[in-house]
Amino acid sequence: MTYDYLIVGSGLFGSIFAYEANKRGKKCLVIDKRQHVGGNIYTKEVEGINVHEYGAHIFHTSNKIVWDYIRQFAEFNRYTNSPIAKYKDEIYNMPFNMNTFHKMWGVITPQEAQAKINEQIQEAGIVEPQNLEEQAISMVGKDIYEKLIKGYTGKQWGKPCTELPTFIIKRLPVRFTYDNNYFNDLYQGIPIGGYTQIIEKMLDGIDVRLNCDYFEYRDELKNIAEKVVFTGMIDQYYDYCYGELEYRSLRFETELLDMENYQGNAVVNYNEYEIPYTRIIEHKHFEYGTQPKTVITREYPSQWKKGDEPYYPMNDDKNNALYRKYEELAKQEKNVIFGGRLGMYKYFDMHHVIEEALKCVDHYL
Ligand code: UDP
Repeated sequence: MTYDYLIVGSGLFGSIFAYEANKRGKKCLVIDKRQHVGGNIYTKEVEGINVHEYGAHIFHTSNKIVWDYIRQFAEFNRYTNSPIAKYKDEIYNMPFNMNTFHKMWGVITPQEAQAKINEQIQEAGIVEPQNLEEQAISMVGKDIYEKLIKGYTGKQWGKPCTELPTFIIKRLPVRFTYDNNYFNDLYQGIPIGGYTQIIEKMLDGIDVRLNCDYFEYRDELKNIAEKVVFTGMIDQYYDYCYGELEYRSLRFETELLDMENYQGNAVVNYNEYEIPYTRIIEHKHFEYGTQPKTVITREYPSQWKKGDEPYYPMNDDKNNALYRKYEELAKQEKNVIFGGRLGMYKYFDMHHVIEEALKCVDHYL
């Protein structure tokens, strides 16, 4: 055995594990099927702009340990996410707050907004929300649901809101203050200079093999390390023996534009169902860029099939039950650790991934 650990996937989970293991004198090999490190947090510089190649990544956490941890590897700016939601020719502030309510109904005070929402909840007759539609209406009322949630969510998940779990919409804050900050967390920001530097620093001095798909080289890699840290799809690891887990995929369409400022905000959501993309990201605004050009990315959700990039796990009851069967197999492994959004089949944000990776480090190292 040449290595103590073979780490499959150079995303945030795998790279943190590798960094911590290396620090403790363990010999690691990190492999990645892509031609670069970083997984989906990878950023690439284009015309001086750090482009989030696999979708916008905005760092936020309330966990001081996580915040201090990630800032060892980069300095973070003061970016606060405040997306704009566009429905036909109307624009609204996100997340749902007094600015949204004022624009929708002309209400001015929190009491007026709450009364309007209560009226709409009563009309819908919802007591205990059973699906995303009912959950959404019970949070913000029917008007906001119809304009800002129904179409966006239908596109994003490829299913009507009545067939989706409630937790997806509970990610978003509802606030009765005039505060457009998308997150409730204490700490928030974007690494100045992009995310790739973070991963590169973590992997400094560690053996890395790119363009190396674990499943293609499985035999060759079998005896290369004592233990494996696997951050790919857990169902694929087990050759889909209980069946395929469901994922949601994305297609990104990126353009370099010869203008300074395309949309005046990093994130603009397109909430009507008829527009096939869910949002346009203008990357320079994450770092307050003043370059003469700009790069924008349209994000098109798509159905996942084998071979596509699995961006989101579909954590409904059916898939969670299937995942638990794979998890049982995973628990029996002595020398394989599963981690990250795909290895643990959970809709993790970056700060969750860091928490999980550090837990794993404590446990195994
Ligand atoms: N969502 C919505 N309208 C919006 C923004 C979000 O209905 O304008 C819903 C949608 O179902 C989405 C979920 O809220 O999948 C979570 O949004 P978030 O921005 O957290 O998603 P992510 O950035 O992880 O794709």
